[in-house]
Amino acid sequence: MGEKEEELNSIIMALRKNYTALQEKFAKEESDKLAAMVLVTKEKDARLSAERSHASIMEELERAQRESSSANQKILSLNDTYKRLQEYNTSLQQYNSKLQSELNQTNELLKNVEKEKVAVLENLSNLRGYCTSLQDQLTATKASSSETMKLKEALASEVGCLRLDLQQVRDDRDRQLSNVQQLSTEVFKYKEWTGKSACELEKLTTKSNELKATCASQTDQIKKLQEKLDAAESKLAMSDLSAFEIRAGYEEQQRVNSELQFRLAEAEVKLVEGESLRKKLHNTILELKGNIRVFCRVRPLLFDDAAEDEPKTVSFPTTTENLGRGVELLQHGQKHSFVFDKVFVPESSQEEVFVEVSQLVQSALDGYKVCIFAYGQTGSGKTHTMMGAPGNDDDKGLIPRSLEQIFESRQTLQNQGWKYEMQVSMLEIYNETIRDLLATNRPGSTDSRVKQYAIKHDANGNTHVSDMTIVDVRSSREVSFLLNRAAQSRSVGTTQMNEQSSRSHFVFTLRIMGVNESTEQQVQGFLNLIDLAGSERLSKSGSTGDRLKETQAINKSLSSLSDVIFALAKKEEHVPFRNSKLTYLLQPCLGGDSKTLMVVNVSPAPSSINESLCSLRFAARVNACEIGIPRRQTSVKQLDARLSYGLFAFSDSASNITKMTSLLPNVHMNLVRDHSIPSQFNRTFFIGSSKTILPIIHCNLSSPPKSKEEAIRQAKTCLITTLEKPLNNPKLAAGKLKKLKQPRFRVEIPVIDDSPESLTQLALQLFDDMPLKRKGSKVKILILWPNSRLTEAANNLQFGSVDNADIVSLMNMGDGVNRVLNSADLVVFLTPEGSQLEVMEAVTNRMYPKPMVIFNPRWSYDDEESNLGDFKDFLGSFEVVYSFMGLEVRGLLSKRNGVVFKCVRDGVLSGERWSVLVEEEGELKVVSIFKTRPSITEVENVLYNLMAVNSPITKSAKFLKGLVSNVTGKKSNPTRGEVEAKRYVIGFFA
Ligand code: ADP
Ligand code: MG
Repeated sequence: MGEKEEELNSIIMALRKNYTALQEKFAKEESDKLAAMVLVTKEKDARLSAERSHASIMEELERAQRESSSANQKILSLNDTYKRLQEYNTSLQQYNSKLQSELNQTNELLKNVEKEKVAVLENLSNLRGYCTSLQDQLTATKASSSETMKLKEALASEVGCLRLDLQQVRDDRDRQLSNVQQLSTEVFKYKEWTGKSACELEKLTTKSNELKATCASQTDQIKKLQEKLDAAESKLAMSDLSAFEIRAGYEEQQRVNSELQFRLAEAEVKLVEGESLRKKLHNTILELKGNIRVFCRVRPLLFDDAAEDEPKTVSFPTTTENLGRGVELLQHGQKHSFVFDKVFVPESSQEEVFVEVSQLVQSALDGYKVCIFAYGQTGSGKTHTMMGAPGNDDDKGLIPRSLEQIFESRQTLQNQGWKYEMQVSMLEIYNETIRDLLATNRPGSTDSRVKQYAIKHDANGNTHVSDMTIVDVRSSREVSFLLNRAAQSRSVGTTQMNEQSSRSHFVFTLRIMGVNESTEQQVQGFLNLIDLAGSERLSKSGSTGDRLKETQAINKSLSSLSDVIFALAKKEEHVPFRNSKLTYLLQPCLGGDSKTLMVVNVSPAPSSINESLCSLRFAARVNACEIGIPRRQTSVKQLDARLSYGLFAFSDSASNITKMTSLLPNVHMNLVRDHSIPSQFNRTFFIGSSKTILPIIHCNLSSPPKSKEEAIRQAKTCLITTLEKPLNNPKLAAGKLKKLKQPRFRVEIPVIDDSPESLTQLALQLFDDMPLKRKGSKVKILILWPNSRLTEAANNLQFGSVDNADIVSLMNMGDGVNRVLNSADLVVFLTPEGSQLEVMEAVTNRMYPKPMVIFNPRWSYDDEESNLGDFKDFLGSFEVVYSFMGLEVRGLLSKRNGVVFKCVRDGVLSGERWSVLVEEEGELKVVSIFKTRPSITEVENVLYNLMAVNSPITKSAKFLKGLVSNVTGKKSNPTRGEVEAKRYVIGFFA
């Protein structure tokens, strides 16, 4: 038990221990828990605050994101702006470069102006010198004048002194005299009074005598002084006079001076004007002189030239005189200068070269024979100049550019009625044998016939090479295809100079044939573009054998070419064209009436200096040549028989023909006995009248009239032919077709004298015996005059006797108007005025669909364009069937006449055109054709363009007095002509 108790006690102890330990543990746990609680609450707080801060951070983040996105947007927009700015910058740069180029141009201009300024300044300084010398003179005169003044003053003071002296002397004398008197009286007194001694008296007498002598001498002195005074006074007057003269002279000089200044300023202005004129005239002079033009082109230094360190051998003078025209070569320290028509520096582009020759190319279209040669040693750039670099459009040479221009111009000229045909041939001359570069048979191929290629010239100056391939071309594409083909078959050889140099002359020929259908003018031009073989001398090529032969052939033909040119220049009788194939081939194009250009190519390489010098010397000799005056090859086609003039008299009496011949001397007459009309003349008309059988008119309508009669005949023919068809339209008779177009025509025969009598006379000639018929009977014409004065004049002139014509005043048609209108088949407004347009329109509508004619309206075309606005459509509905107006084209060097002309042929309205004709070699030739009536500005433009090509002519359209007097056979009254000039109408009744 005790054991048990002990055991239990120990257990209890142990348990107690355990308990306390547990209690301790609990307490510890509790305190731990408390501490943990505290920690938890702290953590909670911390978390809360962390959460709060997180939320705020999130907010901040959002804000930051928003900001970032907005910033991104900004960046985008800034990028945009940046791009735009860059674009703007480039455009500014472009603009800047443009400005720069303009600046360069302006600088160049400035240079010219500066030069002129120097001249002017020199002039000015001369004038200034003159002025200062004048001024010096003036000051000298002034000084002399002031001296004279001083002298005068001195003299005056002297005179004063002398006067004083004189006065004193006079006083003295008076005093002495009174003394003498006193003494005399005293003597007397003495004598009387005392009768004193004679000795005393004598004494007194001598004294008195002495006094008298003094007195006399003093009088003398006074006299002398008086003379002196007179002399001084006249001297003074003289110097006064000369001072006045000097002043007048000075004023005159000053006036002259200011006038000179004014003249100087005027001269400066004139100088500037004159310079531009000079340039134009220079061109004309060149043209007139017919020089062979020579251009020089220096190619750039090439890689192979390897001349970096060597001094420059070629330079270009920058003096204004020879700017763009001079070239200098430096050889062994010696300078050789040359001047040509144009010098192209190495930097010159193909385009720049072409611009200078484009005029020449253009003239081939005008009918000139044009030759352009490229001359120079091998490797100097001949082929580059003529053909250019293949495949590079910017580097195209003269040949492709010329062809492009020709085909472009052909297109424009087509609008003026020109049709062109072009033929191309290409050949080369190698060792004096001709090769056809367009032959389809290769030289190696077996061809039974041996080709001769014989050169022949016919009488028309055309060259034929037998067996030569000639290809018709229609576009520059076709030509470039042919050029490629030719290039492939060209002979090329190797010399030490150039790997693939051409050892043959290449001749490209374009034959241009143009026909103007409306003027029947023909032109034939030639464009020869020649790439010559290298001009280098024998030694340099180091050739032997075949190469030697080649070089000799080349040298021979080149020297033949120069022989020909020099012989032409010296106007020698024998020109050795036949000495080489090249010159013989080009004979028609080298002889007097062609335009020739030689482009001398020069290499700037120092190793080529000798050859360059040779080329330039040769070119300079050519440049000095005058060959002749270029001439166009034109002709007017033989007129078609059907169109030829015809006046057929339907009569069986030869006497009638004679009568008619005298009436119309310029018209060819045929006698037709059996009244049957030959079929080719079925467009001729009867002029039938009860009085006579008048001739049928079919006059030449293709050129303006040369006389009043011809003008009336032409106008009449145009009216008749256009009216005949509508008058006989059955629908017109029946009044059936509602949409029938009313025939409305207009005829303008110019007048100067528009007096009622003249106008009536003209109308009578035009409308009397109108051979118009409707349904077999005569057409009833109603003529409406603008006022009663003219109506009266018409009646006085027995216009009323004209068959089937009624005359009524448009402004006062009276009661019977409806009857008159109804009976008329044709209504004519004669010389209506602008104010009557409303009535005219009403009458026209009332007459529908009967034909209406306006004859010589009293307003000009210009008025119609601007003043008669509301009636423009109405007026436009009247087709002009006949009109012409004269022009006087005043140029700087010449004065020419011209005409604007419209004439409806064959009664066909469509396709008729307004032609502008200008006098050339005494004949009027069509220079332009318009679809509608050209304004005077348009005409001026045409004329300006036309004249500017060959000679600079300022435009001015004026009255053509020449034609007026030609027409009337009298001189026109000039003042009247001037007054009317504004209307551009020519009169017949001067
Ligand atoms: P040629 O026909 O006179 O023998 P090329 O026309 O063949 O001479 O010219 C010789 C070389 O010089 C060619 O490589 C050509 O491209 C080059 N060349 C000639 N002229 C020019 C130029 N104006 N600009 C650039 N290169 C040129
Ligand atoms: Mg070549």
